Amino acid sequence: MGLSVTILGANSAIPTATRYPTAQVVDINQSRYLVDCGEGAQMQLRRNKIKLQRIKAIFISHLHGDHYFGLIGLINTMHMLGRNIPLDIFGPPELLDVLNLQLDLADTKLSYPWTFHPLDFGESKLIYDDDGVEVHTIPLDHGIPCNGFLFKEKKRKRKLIRERIGELNIPLEQIPKIKDGADFVDEKGEVYPNSALTTPPKRSYSYAYCSDTQYNERILPIIDRVDLLYHEATFLEDRKERAKHTKHSTAKDAATIAKKAQVGSLIIGHYSARYFDFQDHLDEAKEVFEHTYLAREGMTFDVPYKNKK
Ligand SMILES: [Zn+2]
Ligand SMILES: [Zn+2]
Repeated sequence: MGLSVTILGANSAIPTATRYPTAQVVDINQSRYLVDCGEGAQMQLRRNKIKLQRIKAIFISHLHGDHYFGLIGLINTMHMLGRNIPLDIFGPPELLDVLNLQLDLADTKLSYPWTFHPLDFGESKLIYDDDGVEVHTIPLDHGIPCNGFLFKEKKRKRKLIRERIGELNIPLEQIPKIKDGADFVDEKGEVYPNSALTTPPKRSYSYAYCSDTQYNERILPIIDRVDLLYHEATFLEDRKERAKHTKHSTAKDAATIAKKAQVGSLIIGHYSARYFDFQDHLDEAKEVFEHTYLAREGMTFDVPYKNKK
């Protein structure tokens, strides 16, 4: 139970033999969501033993290929494996044309119902809502329209004190109300306050995904005090001009955003293929924001994240 993020790919535009373009899986109380789907994402799902068919929804940030070139392959494999549960896909409106063209040319009709949800980019909006999570967009500042995504775990229910429930013979139909905070009144009219029947729930967590973007403080109110932030850090500080030109961030930019938003922990990634080692990224970020960690393929970050070393 809880919230975790597994990194499938942490590279930027060009993959290497061991590094994959952006994709990650957000797991919230055992429901799984895919965020971006760079080339090779389905192989990375298999390598990390994450079942493709358990993915409920896919969120695509923007239409640079390193964030969605793996999508047609993944949804086609789900089809070939006989998926029948629905799939929701969120992304820029033009993505639907791309997918339909690819499917039509192959004369493929997917075996499962799928719904495409076109996103706009002006302001943060609630785009997805289920039993366990809300997802909001985070409008980012990149060369083409781009959204990050904010995952907010829903408030959990209060926990029953099993012995008290048993002793009082509380009928089953009363249980959901008690988990929501109601008192119990027995047949004689005696009132048992909720605090005697339950304990408070664990707190709910939040995760913000911000890739790709140049430094922009406009996102601060949206990601304020999230428990975990992923922020791209394509370059080091000595390539600040290059970062500006390509509308990407440096490690220090990412850390400055994390500090100003007072987040719990920061993961940096989306590294340029020019780097072979990321210690300098980590050092530059940590100078500004201590709780910074490097995204690497195959790593899982539990929220709240504590360095396990
Ligand atoms: Zn990218
Ligand atoms: Zn991009």
